[in-house]
Amino acid sequence: MKNHAIKILVALSFFSVAPVFASQGERPNILMIVTDDHGYADVGYHGLDDDVKTPALDALANEGVIFTSGYVAHPFCGPSRTALLTGRYPHKIGAQFNLPVDGSTVGIDTSETFISKALQQAGYHTGAIGKWHLGEESPYQPNNRGFDEFFGFLGGGHKYFPEQYRPQYERAKAMGITRFNDYITPLVRNDKEVQEKEYLTDAFTREAVDFIDRAGNEEAQPFFLYLAYNAPHVPLEAKEEDLALFSHIKDKKRRTYLAMVYAVDRGVKRIVQTLKDSGQFDNTLIVFVSDNGGKLKWGAKNAPLREGKGSAREGGHRVPMFFHWPKGLKEARHYDAPVSTLDFYPTFLALADAKTPAGKLLDGKNVFPHILDNTSARPGESLFVLRHRRGFHDVSVRRDQWKAVRTTTTDGWKLYNVAQDRAETKDLSDQYPHILADMVKDAGHWAWSNQPPKWFHIHKEGDEWRDANMPRFGEAFQLQ
Ligand code: CA
Repeated sequence: MKNHAIKILVALSFFSVAPVFASQGERPNILMIVTDDHGYADVGYHGLDDDVKTPALDALANEGVIFTSGYVAHPFCGPSRTALLTGRYPHKIGAQFNLPVDGSTVGIDTSETFISKALQQAGYHTGAIGKWHLGEESPYQPNNRGFDEFFGFLGGGHKYFPEQYRPQYERAKAMGITRFNDYITPLVRNDKEVQEKEYLTDAFTREAVDFIDRAGNEEAQPFFLYLAYNAPHVPLEAKEEDLALFSHIKDKKRRTYLAMVYAVDRGVKRIVQTLKDSGQFDNTLIVFVSDNGGKLKWGAKNAPLREGKGSAREGGHRVPMFFHWPKGLKEARHYDAPVSTLDFYPTFLALADAKTPAGKLLDGKNVFPHILDNTSARPGESLFVLRHRRGFHDVSVRRDQWKAVRTTTTDGWKLYNVAQDRAETKDLSDQYPHILADMVKDAGHWAWSNQPPKWFHIHKEGDEWRDANMPRFGEAFQLQ
């Protein structure tokens, strides 16, 4: 009896430190919830703004592992999502610009196997709900990228109230228009149009609840659900009942934005309840992340981080990010070493006990063992952000506690210890010139192996790339 008790104790202590991804039945479900342009200060659990109301997200984050230095690979939508699903820097595959506006015929190269495909091949049931923005033509659509199910829209954004966008679409159609603005096109279920009646965020929640509910009946098969809310991306459109909770906020944009964030949180509450009711909560890894920083002029806040969406400053690409998984991550805490969305792909593969697809290159790491023992996954290694601009580019390098950054608004390269100074207030380039020089050199090497863009969002960007010498390299990677 005594021996038996000791064996159980040994087993329990082993499982408290080791990841649980052995046999088929134990592989976790993976639910990745993505918000759009959601600011670093705009989750309650960061404790940065008292007006923010996200109780469901806060409860998950506070029971899980909060990444205080969680980064996306690009400070705006399309390229950031490319990194999420391909595990590659968008620059390495020519996807560093948003897809062409209004009806693009191109998409993320089909030679890049998405994480959804790898998990599907490993036996997962896979679903995508919400915003796609990775190619609208058939070869690039979710059903052809490893998702068994898709519900949402294929473009880069969408209006929220069907009673408003549906008549606009019908009018345009009646006028004989064939290329519609992304924001008013009907939602689709797989490749079929649907007549949606609900507020967009609620529609996506409803579909997620249904997906999870059905998955609960398939005990032998784990699921991967990519739930990409387009909230709180513009247009700023919120329900009256959500707005009522923020009536004390005078700034209409801020009020509406926070109401939209709250609508996501209401959804997360329902989703968590569904996971619990169907007995799947304990073995579901919930990953929460925003695709880029908040856009300040659209009501978001990233403070104390500087700037926002589009910037190589921290406010552009350090985002709200956490993991929650009762069975695999038992200890609630903060993880402060740098983590990138590039790491999701290899981490999910490992947790799913899945193989890396043949020939697949990955730019991130399996961070799971490092989360468990609270060590950095990349000591001495750099993460890069680069945004092409007219005649210049914004670039940042994060390595250990350091951040080197050069943007159109800085006078040359700056160096910050962002582990202590996340607001980038104290330039240390004069004190640590060798560290800065080494990081700049590292970024130059990285940039030289980038691919030219395969498309541009607008013609002007293409003209600038070709004619105005929008540089990939050039003076940006010299210190003077
Ligand atoms: Ca975005």
